[in-house]
Amino acid sequence: MAISGVTKKCINPSCGLSYEINNDIYRCSCGSLLDVMYKKPKPRTLVDVFYERRNHGRNIYNESGVWRFRDLINFLEIDTENFDECAKVLVSLDGSEGRLSRPYKMSKVADYVNMDHDGFLLQPEGYNPSGSFKDNGMSTALTHAKMLNVKRLVCASTGNTSASASMYAANENMECDVYIPKGEIAPGKLGQAFQFGAQVIQVDGNFDDALSISLKKAKENGGYTVNSVNPFRIEGQKTIVYRVMEHLNWEPPDWIVYPAGALGNTSSCGKALMELYEWGWITKIPRIVAVNSVGANTFYELVNGLFESCELKWNNGKPDLEMIERYYAFKDKQGIRPKTRATAIQIGKPANIVKALRALDFTNGIVVEVDDKDMSDGMSLVGLNGFDCEMASGAVPAAIRKLRSEEIIYIDDVVVGILTGRQKDPRLSVEYHTNGENAFARPPRDA
Ligand SMILES: *Cc1c(COP(=O)(O)O)cnc(C)c1O
Ligand SMILES: [Zn+2]
Repeated sequence: MAISGVTKKCINPSCGLSYEINNDIYRCSCGSLLDVMYKKPKPRTLVDVFYERRNHGRNIYNESGVWRFRDLINFLEIDTENFDECAKVLVSLDGSEGRLSRPYKMSKVADYVNMDHDGFLLQPEGYNPSGSFKDNGMSTALTHAKMLNVKRLVCASTGNTSASASMYAANENMECDVYIPKGEIAPGKLGQAFQFGAQVIQVDGNFDDALSISLKKAKENGGYTVNSVNPFRIEGQKTIVYRVMEHLNWEPPDWIVYPAGALGNTSSCGKALMELYEWGWITKIPRIVAVNSVGANTFYELVNGLFESCELKWNNGKPDLEMIERYYAFKDKQGIRPKTRATAIQIGKPANIVKALRALDFTNGIVVEVDDKDMSDGMSLVGLNGFDCEMASGAVPAAIRKLRSEEIIYIDDVVVGILTGRQKDPRLSVEYHTNGENAFARPPRDA
C-alpha cells in the first residue's frame, strides 16, 4: 500500500527525524519515542459526521466508539466513507470497542468527592469488550499490524494489555505471546489470556522486567509489540478523549483525570488535545491529572521535585533524561520495587514518561498520588453507584476528592475521570466488604 501523507515522527524537537509507517519501528535512532503525524488539519464539520454515525445502520465502523472517529486517526489514509475499504483494513471486534464508554453521571461518587452533580462525570472504559480501555488502542495497533502482515503479537502486561491483545489476536487469527509478572496479575485477567488462546510466558520479576524481556524477544524473534510504546496504540486511545468531548458538545472540561501506569493514557490525552487545539476545534485546554499509587510513584516523585529537589519537565523537548536514569538506578540500588495492590499501575519505569511530560506541559497538568486505601474506597463507591471498576481506576475518584479538599479543583469545575478497567479480581470486593472497618463496607450476615 502506498503511504503518502502519514509518517512517524520523533518527539524530540531537536531531532525531528521522520519514518515511514510501513514498519514496526517505535523508537527513533536518537532513542526517543515516535508520534503518528497527519498531514492536513481536520475540519470541525466532522463533528456532525461523527454524530450521524451514531445511528450506525449496521455499519460496524460507525458503531465502534473508536472507528466512528476514524477520520482523526486515519493513518492508512483510506476513504473513510467507503465501507468495503474500511472492512478490508480496520480491525474491530465487530464494532464493540468504545461503544458503551462515554461520560456518565454518578451522584453518590459526586457527593463523596464533594462536587456538583452536573459537573462531575466518570467514563467507565471497563465497558469495553475485554473489560478495559486497552481495546481502544489495541484495535488501532492491530490495524497497523495487519497492514504489515504480522503473524505474532508480543506484549508485556499487568493483565489488561494481554487480555485485550489476545482477544483481538484470536479474532484476527494471529498468535499472541504475553509476558506477565508471575503471581502479580489479577486472576480474571490471566484467565482471559488463556481463554483467548495466548501463549502466556511468566517472568520472575515485575512488569518493568517483563517489558524489557518482551521488547528484546520481539526484536530477536520478529514479533510485533503492542505495548503503549507503539505509537498506533496511542492513536486509538485518543478516542477516549473524543468520546468525552462529543458528550460535552466539544466544549472542553476543566480537568481530565487518569490513573497513571506506563503513561500511555496521559500521553494520548495530551496528543489528542494538542491536535484538536492545532486544528482550531478547541481554544480552552483541559488540565490533565495523572494519578500515581503511593507504592509506584515514579512520575509523581520526578515531576514534583521529590528526587534531587529538581522538577522533571518537558523543557521544550529536552527533559533531563539522565535524571530519570539516576532515579531508576537509585531505586534499584535501594532495592525499592513498585508495590501497590492496584496491580494495573504497579509500574516503576513508565515507558511513555517523555510523551507524558509533553502532555503535562501542554495542558498545565499535574501529578498526584493516592494510597491503596483511598483507591479501595474509590473503587467501592463507584460500585455502590451501580457502576464497576477495578482498584487502579479507584485512584480517579480518590484523587478528585483530594484535589477538591485542597481547593485545586473547584466545586463548579467540570471534571471527567476515566475509569480505566472493570473489576477482574473479585477477591478485592469480597475482602473490602467483609471487613466492617472499611468506610463503605457492607459486611455479609449469617441467615
Ligand atoms: C493499563 C492500565 C492502567 C495504566 O494505564 P497507562 O496508560 O499505562 O498509564 C490503568 N488502569 C488500568 C485498569 C489498566 O489496565
Ligand atoms: Zn529522534
